[in-house]
Amino acid sequence: MTGTDRKRIAIVANETQRSQEVAQLLTEKLSDDAVFEMDAVKPDIILTAGGDGTLLKAFHQYEAMLDTVRFIGVHTGHLGFYTDFVVDEIPEMLSALKDENPATAWKYPLLKVIVRLKNGVVETHHALNEATVRRHSRTLVANVTIADEFFEKFRGDGLSVATPTGSTAYNKSIGGAVMHPRVEALQLTEIASLNNSVFRTLGSPMIVAKKDIIKIFPEPADNYSLSVDQLEFDYEDIESLDYSLDGTTIAFANIAHTHFWERVRNSFITDGLTDN
Ligand code: NAP
Ligand code: MN
Repeated sequence: MTGTDRKRIAIVANETQRSQEVAQLLTEKLSDDAVFEMDAVKPDIILTAGGDGTLLKAFHQYEAMLDTVRFIGVHTGHLGFYTDFVVDEIPEMLSALKDENPATAWKYPLLKVIVRLKNGVVETHHALNEATVRRHSRTLVANVTIADEFFEKFRGDGLSVATPTGSTAYNKSIGGAVMHPRVEALQLTEIASLNNSVFRTLGSPMIVAKKDIIKIFPEPADNYSLSVDQLEFDYEDIESLDYSLDGTTIAFANIAHTHFWERVRNSFITDGLTDN
């Protein structure tokens, strides 16, 4: 087998002892196999050992290569949404990876956030789960437009825009709906909106079609924080935040075995070990 036929693998693990041990085990098994070679710089496949947080970290680490890489996760704690395999399944996972066809990878939409500052600076981020804007210490007041039409003036703690795969994360904790990852849409969810006889917002999560851009125009204020998955950014004088599904995707190797609704049930209702 020539070097070019081999599947180049990178491993990203969290710092727990268990995950480090799993990473070590994976490295040994991969190194013993002529089909694979370890390559942290230009991998074809990124294996993560840890939880969803580890997958999010790996995603941001390899963000510049999303067109060419596929991800697959081994979870070392409770079942994750992005991490499908348990440690005991590693041999079966690696044998499936040998035959894995890149053309059949599962692709899920990413959220693009464009931050436009009043001084003309423009920054772009991509989120796998969500991007959430909050104002430090005081009420966030912001106009919200959808497809460039005014929708509402929001007052409250913050606004979160989630991807379908991020819908089971922070979005769910703030009352958003769980969305199947093949539904190509973004979800706007309020955080503690002020609703009374003077101030009014929709008050429920909204699922916005892929074709439409959601824009948030915060009122001039001291400063704002924007979280993009586990990353945090501080901005002063934001003109607007533009949220869209811009067609970029994350690819997962098509070897996973637990389907989406089964994962939702196992994570949030029952792990299947009990009858109820
Ligand atoms: P973290 O504080 O360790 O993560 C919070 C929890 O969210 C963890 O249990 C994590 O799973 C889980 N999680 C992450 N992505 C998920 C997804 N797509 N579906 C279901 N659960 C998911 O922080 P982190 O591990 O760096 O992850 C950052 C993410 O955590 C953020 O993007 C945000 O969505 C989420 N978060 C949620 C809350 C909340 O619900 N109140 C608060 C802060 C952050 P693992 O244990 O497998 O990592
Ligand atoms: Mn975590």
